[in-house]
Amino acid sequence: MARLALVTGSTSGIGLGIAKSLAEAGYRLILNGLGDPGAIDQALSEVSTLCSESPIYIGTDLTQPRAIEVALAEIIESVGPISVLVNNAGMQHTGPVEDFPVDKWDQIIALNLSAAFHTTRLCLPEMKAQDFGRIINIASVHGLVASTNKPAYVASKHGLIGLTKATALETAEANITCNAICPGWTETPLIQAQIETRAADLNISIEDGGRALLAEKQPSKRFVTTDQLGALTRFLCTDAASQITGASLPVDGGWTAQ
Ligand code: NAD
Repeated sequence: MARLALVTGSTSGIGLGIAKSLAEAGYRLILNGLGDPGAIDQALSEVSTLCSESPIYIGTDLTQPRAIEVALAEIIESVGPISVLVNNAGMQHTGPVEDFPVDKWDQIIALNLSAAFHTTRLCLPEMKAQDFGRIINIASVHGLVASTNKPAYVASKHGLIGLTKATALETAEANITCNAICPGWTETPLIQAQIETRAADLNISIEDGGRALLAEKQPSKRFVTTDQLGALTRFLCTDAASQITGASLPVDGGWTAQ
């Protein structure tokens, strides 16, 4: 039976790219995400063509700790232990700290940081029992450096890197690793609003809005691709990567080298 991999927020963008890469590597996927049922069906069918065992979908809202507990208990009981956990679900909201909506702060911390704490604490006992586990936290360059107008996002991603290091130390003697991947600009729905705002502010096309964002921060001037992030995640699950733990790996076209 194939090992199980849970990728949170995998009905879109980076999570879907990672889910496809792990399906190609032979894992049975558990997809998660909210939103348009048509898009969710599409994601499930894309993943199902890549592996022999059909993917499972859980529509859990990860801002709700109790819902996470119920969903993971059901999966572990009815399908089996989770071997690979990719904490990817995340959201963004921009605005200066003094005007930042309090409800958005709470939501971003709950999804981008606390959800990873809950999934990690709930998956670790079975990983220890199996003597195998891979936890990959999709942080961001904003886990390593800050930008203006993203206080909750930057705080949540710095926190996620802290959780990554703490988990890595606690699991170092088991065959379990915990690492963070820190992408720079990656073209997905999450950054669409920022591209559109930049295009409107400068009165340029959407395409040029994307180029303007890249020019400001990402020296390669190219977007990271979801395939590239999928390939790195897949590598981190191999035996060759078993001594990589507690690391924060930038995939950012040179952003954080500046
Ligand atoms: P996306 O908006 O395309 O996907 C987000 C996913 O999270 C979707 O599947 C969505 O349904 C799911 N989601 C949202 N709220 C949820 C909730 N409450 N419960 C469960 N699922 C929920 O975004 P993306 O760009 O693919 O981002 C994925 C991760 O990568 C995020 O953590 C993001 O911070 C990080 N990241 C993105 C970029 C980028 O440039 N796109 C850069 C660095 C880091």
